[in-house]
Amino acid sequence: MTGFGAGTGGLLWRESGDTVDLSGLGDVFAQPTLNPLLALGPAGWRQAVDAARAHDGPRSDAQLRLPFEVADYVDFYSSLEHATNLGRLFRPTQDPLLPNWRWLPIGYHGRAGTVVVSGTDVVRPKGQLKGEGDPVYAASRRLDIELELGFVVGVPSEPGEPVPPERFAEHVFGVVLVNDWSARDIQAWEYQPLGPFLGKSFQTSISAWVTPLVLLEGARVAAPPQEPPPLPHLQGGSDWGLDIALEVELNGEVVSRGNSRSLYWTMPQQLAHATSNGGTIRTGDLMATGTISGAEPGSEGSLIELWRNARFLEDGDEVVLRGRAGAIELGDVRGRVLPAR
Ligand code: MN
Repeated sequence: MTGFGAGTGGLLWRESGDTVDLSGLGDVFAQPTLNPLLALGPAGWRQAVDAARAHDGPRSDAQLRLPFEVADYVDFYSSLEHATNLGRLFRPTQDPLLPNWRWLPIGYHGRAGTVVVSGTDVVRPKGQLKGEGDPVYAASRRLDIELELGFVVGVPSEPGEPVPPERFAEHVFGVVLVNDWSARDIQAWEYQPLGPFLGKSFQTSISAWVTPLVLLEGARVAAPPQEPPPLPHLQGGSDWGLDIALEVELNGEVVSRGNSRSLYWTMPQQLAHATSNGGTIRTGDLMATGTISGAEPGSEGSLIELWRNARFLEDGDEVVLRGRAGAIELGDVRGRVLPAR
């Protein structure tokens, strides 16, 4: 795994299996979270990566903390295959894609306070479940995962000034893997007309390591073609996706393999859309792509798609998400299901 993390005594750098304590470098490296480093901007980020790689600090086995204080959390819905699969399952009698889907990256604002670091167990959520008769309040029977990539905002934007796709790298520091745990039964009953709420907000897990974007420049690939062509304010970032091989491991067995290059809406387009109303972004914002599913069977990023709505997570199950772009491995995201309380 490669990237910056946060330990109890300051920042950490991990590469080639070694974790180095950066706190001896002082300044932003001696802080409890990555946020001060995130706020430095692109020149500072490059210097930080160079300094971390050159630092001959002590090896660390510090307890890994949430790497940055999450300011706001946004979750998109950018995979054409995932949106199509879910549309079929949730609205079987209608077109799986709603008319707006190809015009803008659909998203919602999530709960920043329940984002946790990899290794944190997830307690099975409770909520309203709707069967044949009246709804009941009970433990979810359809607990699922969502395999996503998340990008981490470093540099804030100005009120009223959208961030166009071509300015993405001026604001975004790096990426993490995200497991957007989802209770499908709670979600199915609550999501109309305002979108996901308690079916998602009980917990979201991210990797302990934030991989700087500058290390992923070699993984850039052309994104899939977009039809109809996006409106002008969403053009300009569609020329790059990230070629990151992804996998979902359940109880030690790989059950799905995909790739983030299949995402229809790119991360620069997601940020452009999120700021297109002039609303500001701030240091520590986390924006996730939405579940990444490929076209082939076995590349689905959620169990509801993989197992066709027939089987979900059991208590005691452990899920690990992994991502790799050549020599750069993203931090994994690990979590085990605990029974409802
Ligand atoms: Mn999601």
